[in-house]
Parts: sequence; structure tokens; C-alpha cells
Amino acid sequence: MRQGKITRMVQESASNLKVICKHSVGTDNIDIDAASKKGIPVFFTSMTNCEFVAEHTLALILALIRKIPNQDASIRSGKFERSQFNGLELLGKCLGIIGFGRIGRRLTELVAPFKMKVITYDPLDSKEISQPYIRKVQHPEDLYVQADIISLHCPLTPDTKNMINEHSIQQMKPGVMIINTTRGGIINETDLFNALLERRISGAALDVFEVEPPHLDNPLFQLKNLIYTSHIAGISDNSFINMGIQSVNFVLSVLKGKPIDVDSVVNKSIL
Ligand code: NAD
Repeated sequence: MRQGKITRMVQESASNLKVICKHSVGTDNIDIDAASKKGIPVFFTSMTNCEFVAEHTLALILALIRKIPNQDASIRSGKFERSQFNGLELLGKCLGIIGFGRIGRRLTELVAPFKMKVITYDPLDSKEISQPYIRKVQHPEDLYVQADIISLHCPLTPDTKNMINEHSIQQMKPGVMIINTTRGGIINETDLFNALLERRISGAALDVFEVEPPHLDNPLFQLKNLIYTSHIAGISDNSFINMGIQSVNFVLSVLKGKPIDVDSVVNKSIL
């Protein structure tokens, strides 16, 4: 499955259900507890689109700091406002990454040539870091006070819901930029709107929204220091094919009683 909700009721209604596979990564639309109680493994296609999400995040960072959509709109409206669009240089700036999993790690590799400092916050990550330009912090506040650009790469969970809110924004550097390619709901959109309006956050790029598709009367659409894409960060020419093939293989491994890829099971405790 991809976008529908696999609730407890859906699972209880499907009396022959033996396996669930998310054709993507974020499994927040599947009731994992309900599946675990029934002994049903929930798979996700772990390595299929992290490359493209990381590339898309980098594209959003560059578009935002260079104000490329604004420049494009300005030129199309007959203007040529060279003094309006001074860009921000990445060299030496601090990128804060919240959630240092597959996508967060790949993003740090992609930004390496820009000679940025990278700090990461991930309470569940205990892996060593070898690159000298990356530093882990133990508390999100330590990241908020230092980062010039914050990119979100943690899953939507009860812990991360509304994590970026008025309180956390107040701790951030004035003029910080925020990129969200993970899930709407991690950023409180009302608090983001106010901070963007007052330029406490100087720009944001969103691939995901609290409600998708977003309503046209969403106040965020009034702002010019915000760019959007339509929850497509993970979709490339290759990723759909790879996700499909991986999903089918996971399902067949369960149905045919073959060895399964444990790393791609969300509820490992039932195995
Ligand atoms: P991942 O599981 O490899 O990494 C997620 C990381 O977040 C993990 O290291 C985990 O420890 C960390 N984390 C968990 N709780 C946290 C918290 N409270 N604070 C900080 N970090 C926390 O997943 P991934 O493949 O890197 O994907 C990350 C997210 O990207 C997915 O959950 C999904 O929502 C999103 N995603 C979006 C798209 C898209 O098209 N926009 C596509 C794929 C994935």
C-alpha cells in the first residue's frame, strides 16, 4: 500500500492478512501496534528513494537560498530586479539535520563539497561519525541555536509531531531557513506562518503539509519566502520501479516462507 490508512479496523476486517508492505518509507499511516498484536510483519522499502529525497532536499536548499522561484516569477512579470535577489552562500554555514537516518546521512554526503558545518540531532542514533565536519548534539535546542538551515529527516511520531513550533522557533537563530521533506505535522503550520511573516524564519521549503493536498486558502500560500513541491521528494524515474520490485519481493518472501529482509521490517519485535 502507499497512501491509504491501514488502520486497526482495516486489519481486523482482513481475516487472511499475513503481511503489510509500505510502497515507500514513512509508515505513519499504518497502525503498527495493531499489526504487531496480530503477528503481521510490516515492511517498508527502505533503500529505494533515500537518494532522491536527499537530492531533492539539496535542490530545495539551493532554490531557497538563491531565491530562484522568486527570480523566475519576477522576470516573467517583466522585471529585472538584480539588487532584490542577493543569495546566501553555503560555504561555512551550519546545516542542522534532525533525524540522522538514511536520508539525513546521504544529505551530509551531498553537502560536503559546499564546506558547510553539519550538526545532527537523533536521539536513537548511536553510530559513530567519521567525517570531521559533522557533529552530533544531544538536545534539539543545541541544534536550534547554531543552525543557519534546518532540514527535517525524522519520522512523524508522537514525539516529533509539532516538534517545530513557536517554542522551538524562538530558540532558533534569527533568519534561519527550514526545509521539510519528511512529513507535515512535524512543523506547526500556524507557528511557521507567523515566524515567516515576521522574518524570524527568513525562508522555508516544504514538500509535505499537515493536510495533503493543502487547501488553497492555507495562509502559507500568501507568503513569498516559502517554496513548495507536492510531496514528490522521493519520486524519480527509478524509485517507483525499485519500490515496486522490492515490495513484491517482501510480500513473496512471507507468503512463500523464504528468508526475509529483517532490516526492512518496522515491527522487528514480532519476528
Ligand atoms: P530512517 O528511518 O533511515 O531515518 C529516520 C531517522 O530519524 C532515524 O535515524 C531515527 O532514529 C530518527 N528519529 C526518530 N525519532 C526522532 C526524533 N524524535 N528526533 C530526531 N530524530 C529521530 O528514514 P529515512 O529513510 O531517512 O526517511 C526519513 C523520513 O523521510 C521518513 O520517515 C519519511 O517520513 C520521509 N520521507 C519522505 C519522502 C517524500 O517523498 N517526501 C520520501 C521518503 C521518505
